[in-house]
Amino acid sequence: MERSLKSLLNSNKHNLEPCTLNFELTPVPLAALNQYSYCPHRCWRMFCAGEFMENEYTIAGTDLHQRVHTVGAQQAGETWEVRAIWLKSERYGLTGKADLVEVSAGQYVPVEYKHGQRGDWENDALQLCAQALCLEEMMGQTIPTGYVYYAQTHQRQAIALDEPLRQATLETIATVRQLLTKGTMPQPIYSKRCKGCSLYGRCLPQAAKKVARYQEL
Ligand code: SF4
Repeated sequence: MERSLKSLLNSNKHNLEPCTLNFELTPVPLAALNQYSYCPHRCWRMFCAGEFMENEYTIAGTDLHQRVHTVGAQQAGETWEVRAIWLKSERYGLTGKADLVEVSAGQYVPVEYKHGQRGDWENDALQLCAQALCLEEMMGQTIPTGYVYYAQTHQRQAIALDEPLRQATLETIATVRQLLTKGTMPQPIYSKRCKGCSLYGRCLPQAAKKVARYQEL
């Protein structure tokens, strides 16, 4: 096992949970970027109001992550697979876990596992890119590509960690940090994403829309 990989595993022996990190910036959980990109109101409910409700999709997702999150490193051919590893970036004030990091010929590649299939939005790519930003800082190298594995379709999709995606990720980090700092609730906006949202019963986005229309009359 190469020395840089050993140092990454050693760093994970220490607790890297947000409350123990000495960041100058308010730490942003990697998962919050995904949630914000999916729906700002959902992100506020989960990370500011501390609400979470399970539904069939979140339970399936939790099961998948529990199976993936068996901590440790194993070798598969020429590639080392490191699972459930804590990542952090002091530069960007990020912290969170990566499902899987593959290491081949000294190149680190993040792989994020998702239960469903690829949606029309970029939330998974943003989360993956933020993981890559952490790994780049921790391992001192550029990471050009990552992967999202969609369990429902058994597809492993390559994501180019290019400039537009990096820019979008940095903007989302700044916006989520502002949300976590100020705690101002973004209004719920009904969209096709609400169909699979576990917080639908609490949020009632269509009722909020009707009330807003009623107030405008
Ligand atoms: S129901 Fe819709 S608006 Fe409400 S939190 Fe979920 S995705 Fe957001």
